[in-house]
Amino acid sequence: MIRKTRLFTPGPTPLLPAAQFAMAAADIHHRTAEFRALYQRVLDQLKTFVGTKNDVLLLASSGTGAMEASVSNLTSPGDRVLVLSTGKFGERWTAITKAFGCEVDVVSAPYGQTFSLDEVRKALKPETRAVFLQATESSTGVRNDVQGVAELLKKANSNALLVVDAITGLGTTHFDVDAWGVDVIIGGSQKAVMIPPGLAYLSVSDRAWEAMETSRNPRYYFDLRKERKNAHKGESSYTPAVSLIAGLGAALDFIAAQGGGDLAAGRKALVDNAETCAAMTRAAVEALGLKLFAPVSPAAAATAVLPPAGVDSGVIVKELKSRFGAVITNGQGEMKGQIFRVAHIGLFDYMDTIAIIGALEQVAASPLKIPGFQFGHALAAAQKVFAETGSSAKKETAEPVGAR
Ligand SMILES: *Cc1c(COP(=O)(O)O)cnc(C)c1O
Repeated sequence: MIRKTRLFTPGPTPLLPAAQFAMAAADIHHRTAEFRALYQRVLDQLKTFVGTKNDVLLLASSGTGAMEASVSNLTSPGDRVLVLSTGKFGERWTAITKAFGCEVDVVSAPYGQTFSLDEVRKALKPETRAVFLQATESSTGVRNDVQGVAELLKKANSNALLVVDAITGLGTTHFDVDAWGVDVIIGGSQKAVMIPPGLAYLSVSDRAWEAMETSRNPRYYFDLRKERKNAHKGESSYTPAVSLIAGLGAALDFIAAQGGGDLAAGRKALVDNAETCAAMTRAAVEALGLKLFAPVSPAAAATAVLPPAGVDSGVIVKELKSRFGAVITNGQGEMKGQIFRVAHIGLFDYMDTIAIIGALEQVAASPLKIPGFQFGHALAAAQKVFAETGSSAKKETAEPVGAR
């Protein structure tokens, strides 16, 4: 049969056709009124998408650039910081904070699990300058309790800044950034907003701006105060990723359309969509007799699954790609061969979800030959979840590329 290539990866995620058209048409110079209008509009939309009144800035980098910016702008050498690590991206916080000379305390959970708030309470010190964590740890499929950590910091009267890598959390998790007191929350273009890699965005609280007055780590390209000053004039400090910004505007319009023109409602619909795709997938893999890698606190961004005993997960990744054109991801680092991950972040719908589950059934039948396997069990489990939770109709469809 024909195989269409489809991404089921937690970044880059499938591209929104309307954003692809907008990118192709973005032949704009960045020091013009035309660009300033676009930039201002996209920054305003991003605020609503993030759900904050704080400043939101855009950087021409992958998500890690904004992670580094939050460390270099908010800390000084010798500062004590706390990293809550639940996987490969948590380990990245540790590496970055160490690279900038911080004294790093780490609370780490075994892969597939999250930390307890009790462990966080014990590790927090009066002098802790900032707490870094992931909202969803894409390497393990775990969701961490951002709200719980935020409340804990308030109750403890801590001065620590709360910095959240929500690069796969935004668009898959409900946040109340300002009410919870999240100081920095970070997103990336190749995740929920359905455009290619190359842009990072982050919101910055008043408390974080104040902290920057006294922080002494070096920074140049990622100087957030300079970036804010320019953003207020509708410009970026250096040449912006113009076409990606045009694509982002189109994507945020699409997300707004999911909420009947209201971007906050559209964001909620996008999160609910990811939750439904994830719940369908979890039910399906369990019906296949496979085990979830993160059963206790699963993220809606991606579902991580253990292969049958004795099977390298790479076999499943390869089968899905070679027979069905479906690109899923293997485990990262030491988890390679141990798990496979199916993403739900961004432009995934009912049809995609049913399709990947159908293809997984084929792989389960052969070559896996899972004991007791029968066609239709996984699909039936997913159908049931959809019928019970996810059947609310979408208001707008994403036109396929060839449809115009
Ligand atoms: C994708 C991702 C990142 C950013 O990685 P980049 O390759 O720099 O874009 C960071 N954290 C999480 C949780 C991610 O999923």
